[in-house]
Amino acid sequence: MSSGLEGLQQALKQLRLSEVSAELPLLMREAEQHSWTYHELLDHLLNFELNKRDDKNKEKRLKWAKFPYHKSLEDYDMTEQKSMTERQMKQLKDMHWLEQQYNLVLLGPPGVGKTHLAIGMGLEAIEQGYQVMFLPMGELMSILKTSDYTRKSQITLNRIKQSDLVIIDDLMYIAMDQREANQFFHLINHLYERSSIILTSNKSPEHWGELLGDEGIATAILDRLLHRVEVIQMNDESYRMKNRESVFQ
Ligand code: ADP
Ligand code: MG
Repeated sequence: MSSGLEGLQQALKQLRLSEVSAELPLLMREAEQHSWTYHELLDHLLNFELNKRDDKNKEKRLKWAKFPYHKSLEDYDMTEQKSMTERQMKQLKDMHWLEQQYNLVLLGPPGVGKTHLAIGMGLEAIEQGYQVMFLPMGELMSILKTSDYTRKSQITLNRIKQSDLVIIDDLMYIAMDQREANQFFHLINHLYERSSIILTSNKSPEHWGELLGDEGIATAILDRLLHRVEVIQMNDESYRMKNRESVFQ
């Protein structure tokens, strides 16, 4: 017994192959035009479904990451900076450090490209199938503060904990009280050896302790953050200032 095209589409849908179901008429026409073998036809149908699913998952991960803007590593001009060699950049791009749960700390004054580089890494990680979350420090603190009693913060916190890469932008911009430092510690402890963290900061780690308040907690946090870490010191002139547009001709 053979089903018509619509019947096949219905069956594919029931089997949850909805992408291939929607495109079946087109794919069948192509099969006839190119005289695909049975093997080729099956190969095309299955790969169509898999590729569409990959695209959709990537789109979903991109939305979840909540990047403030999209600037890739390709947009990052290596000739404009002295903090990294092309070879080091290539090694960062291959994401082995993420596979091995290394953290990255990007240090330097405002405008040198810390946030851009962090977003670029995040986009690359998403491209390679990882789950990423971008959080300005202020936002992370407010999520931690309210996670006990608002559902939205609870959900976001769970997502952070499930991420392969958590980007915390402008660390220590805000001084924390004891309770906040405690919550921050619990999060870092959860992520430790499970995920990678990228931190950007304009203060060097020696000063992070002061902002975390309690010395014991500060040491425990730094211990975990800096256990497996690559620190990139970006001391170039501000890209923003150098390339600013002028009203004068
Ligand atoms: P920071 O986070 O260090 O304050 P940003 O990442 O926000 O700096 O960078 C400031 C601006 O300069 C952004 O628009 C960024 O895209 C751009 N920028 C900085 N460094 C570079 C670079 N090497 N190549 C291209 N754009 C850069
Ligand atoms: Mg920044």
